[in-house]
Amino acid sequence: MPNIPATSRHWLLARRPKGLVSTDDFSLAEQPIPEVADGSALARICYLTFEPAMRGWMDDVVSYMPPVELGEPMRAPGMAVVVESKHPDFAPGDLVFGMMSWSEYVTHHAGWSKVPSGVDPELVLGPAGGTGLTAYFGLLDVGQPQAGETVVVSGAAGATGSVAAQIARIKGCRVIGIAGGEEKCRWLLEQARLDAAIDYKSENVAARLKALCPDGIDVFFDNVGGSILEAVLNNLAMDARIALCGMISTYNDATPQSGPANLFQLIVRRGTLQGFMVFDYMDRRDQALADLFNWVAAGEIAFRTDVQHGFENIPTTFLRLFDGSNQGKQVLKVSDTDL
Ligand code: NAP
Repeated sequence: MPNIPATSRHWLLARRPKGLVSTDDFSLAEQPIPEVADGSALARICYLTFEPAMRGWMDDVVSYMPPVELGEPMRAPGMAVVVESKHPDFAPGDLVFGMMSWSEYVTHHAGWSKVPSGVDPELVLGPAGGTGLTAYFGLLDVGQPQAGETVVVSGAAGATGSVAAQIARIKGCRVIGIAGGEEKCRWLLEQARLDAAIDYKSENVAARLKALCPDGIDVFFDNVGGSILEAVLNNLAMDARIALCGMISTYNDATPQSGPANLFQLIVRRGTLQGFMVFDYMDRRDQALADLFNWVAAGEIAFRTDVQHGFENIPTTFLRLFDGSNQGKQVLKVSDTDL
């Protein structure tokens, strides 16, 4: 039986951010760990994962899930080891993943799944978990790329974008990634083996897209929105498909941006722009995960996991997503995965 402390630390949402999220939006608290009730379980967090969309959960606005309440632990996906269980599906030592919080210990949540034995937890946190599934369904179902087509991906060196770009390459497309900085662009060319990379921080994206895509862009997998979406809209091929995955360039806006100013290009090019949520595809998750595991095992998908350490560093780790410090899937290790 593991030694379970009487209290757990949590990072609480202290106030709703105005503009760019800051560490002052969170406060550290220590609270008693409640008794495990019948039908429930207690788990110690091993890894937390960070997603840009968590910024939206901090605002009191209508979204695809309710906002985090002020004074509550910040909601976050993670992986934990069960330390005590009165739940029929879980036993001490089981590694589980799903929705958790910025806490040391968490009680059972209905959405938890067990990490299959023998599977590398790093894969479940990244390319063979929610991140990979987002890339898979967004690119293949919404983008519908055909071999020989030109696919552009923004946020291409990030967790989701890098998988989407490489699936497009696997499907025989010509793939151009847009990312911030020389090092990320080099990784896209050398490790992800894309056809071209554009550094949006030092290059004119519209001019580079025009030069690289003389026949237009057939599929755009967009993680960023804003001016990059506008640049792509001006370079679409006929019948282009845009899969709207995310809009990180707008998440910290204190006042909403107007635009894109050139949506008319969708009419000219008979294009389609479609948003999607990964949760809607869970009935097909097993087949997608099998494909993703196979591609990673075959060396067809390269990925990076950016592991930070220390419970106290959770808020600063979250901020890394918004200045591009993260090199691949952003996670933070809270404790070891064994009991
Ligand atoms: P990520 O791409 O690994 O990390 C975020 C990256 O965004 C940063 O590394 C940075 O890369 C880039 N970025 C930050 N601020 C930017 C700005 N102002 N302009 C341009 N790029 C900026 O994160 P992720 O978890 O994979 O998420 C990627 C996107 O997918 C997000 O928009 C997220 O909301 C979305 N998402 C959607 C779903 C869904 O179901 N639709 C599910 C999960 C995630 P650079 O260094 O290249 O700037």
